[in-house]
Amino acid sequence: MVTAVAYRLAKQQKMREEILSAFLLRDEQLLEVKKRMRMQMERGLKKETHSAAAVKMLATYVRSTPDRTEKGDFLALDLGGTNFRVLMVKIWSGKCRAVEMHNKIYAIPMDAMEGTGEELFDHIVHCISDFLEYMGMKDCVLPLGFTFSFPCEQRKLDQDILLKWTRGFKATGCEGEDVVDLLREAIRRRGEFELDVVAIVNDTIGTMTSCGYDDPFCEVGLIVGTGCNAGYMEVMKNVEMVEGDEGRMCINMEWGAFGDDGCLDDVRTEFDRDVDQLSLNPGKQRYEKMISGMYLGEIVCNILISFTKRGLLFRGKISERLKTRGIFETKFLSHIESDWLALLQLRAIFQQLGLQSTCDDSIIVKEVCGVVSRLAAQLCGAGMAAVVDKIRENRNLEHIKVNVGIIGTLYKLHPHFSTVIHQTVERLAPKCLVSFVQSEDGSGKGAALITAVACRIREAGQH
Ligand code: ADP
Ligand code: MG
Repeated sequence: MVTAVAYRLAKQQKMREEILSAFLLRDEQLLEVKKRMRMQMERGLKKETHSAAAVKMLATYVRSTPDRTEKGDFLALDLGGTNFRVLMVKIWSGKCRAVEMHNKIYAIPMDAMEGTGEELFDHIVHCISDFLEYMGMKDCVLPLGFTFSFPCEQRKLDQDILLKWTRGFKATGCEGEDVVDLLREAIRRRGEFELDVVAIVNDTIGTMTSCGYDDPFCEVGLIVGTGCNAGYMEVMKNVEMVEGDEGRMCINMEWGAFGDDGCLDDVRTEFDRDVDQLSLNPGKQRYEKMISGMYLGEIVCNILISFTKRGLLFRGKISERLKTRGIFETKFLSHIESDWLALLQLRAIFQQLGLQSTCDDSIIVKEVCGVVSRLAAQLCGAGMAAVVDKIRENRNLEHIKVNVGIIGTLYKLHPHFSTVIHQTVERLAPKCLVSFVQSEDGSGKGAALITAVACRIREAGQH
């Protein structure tokens, strides 16, 4: 009898291990991912291959990082993440060099997200008006930088065509339009104050610039939050889509789309495919869907359902709640994988999900969360290894020091995610000494700094 039970348990353990083995990649496989990312980067940068490339490597028209002589008062907007923020950024140069920020967070109501573009931008301008009132600065014509984190085709620093809304935004009449025009028109409609819209900035570049102000080695920006994306400084001669060979330009990689041409199919699991199929944009952003906060909980949930259906977990009994999409949040991974969390507390999480669990179940779920978050961090690290090695090769250096500015709740709050990214980059790009610097101030500060740089260059041109 005892041996029969032991035999069954051992067999179940083996079945679980087999399913989870799809999430264990060897370093050779990760190196292959790095190599493919590098190839995709080349495809995105080259004129011939750009239009068909999955990783778009978008030019941003941001050509220089702050030189710390910037000064003045700037307004910044941040739209595209969980919150909409309006910020006032005061920058001093010289001996009392400093940056001071004030900001307010505003909700974007469903009506505005899903109504007409005019309604959305009127709401944005309404928030700006409230903020200027609050700061007592309605009469100054402030230069404005706009962090706008959606896929866009940038044509100038202040001209940016929205290609596609993502993350729940649907406002009509915006796709294919210049976001700066939409904002300027809304300011005009309100007729209450004027603003000088100088720059529109992707959040990866905002993050890089925000860290770069204090750290001259920072030339990469990484986002690991709701979504996942990266940007970095590329030498102009490699940016074939933009005229000129002198100097450098920030590239918004839009790397979340890595794998959309099928090149990651051998490392995607059946669970990744399911998450993709049930998402709002099937087939799109495949790399992002294997890494970011919007999806990791969903991947874990699918594995738990599959285990339970096979009788390998929760005594084979699935709750209706577990089948609800989005019920298993990525923050659960952080809680479950934290060492301080007692198994008892874990059972409380399962109870919320309508599941009766045993101690063994808790151990199994912890293991599932572990392999999923580990692979996510390794994949992100493999992509980053490709970026820093390219920067090194661009300079013809044997060794290089690169700092990466990073923002994102998943990176910040998950107990192991950051360590796994660091270790992966270290192993896959051994010639690069990479440090990760968390931006505490967010990409809004970066947008203000980019605006400040543009104003400095504009003023220098007028003399
Ligand atoms: P955004 O990317 O929207 O600008 P964040 O960087 O705050 O903003 O990322 C939000 C994402 O972080 C959400 O998708 C959520 O799944 C994830 N998240 C929230 N809390 C945690 C946590 N404790 N651990 C891991 N991920 C989390
Ligand atoms: Mg954000």
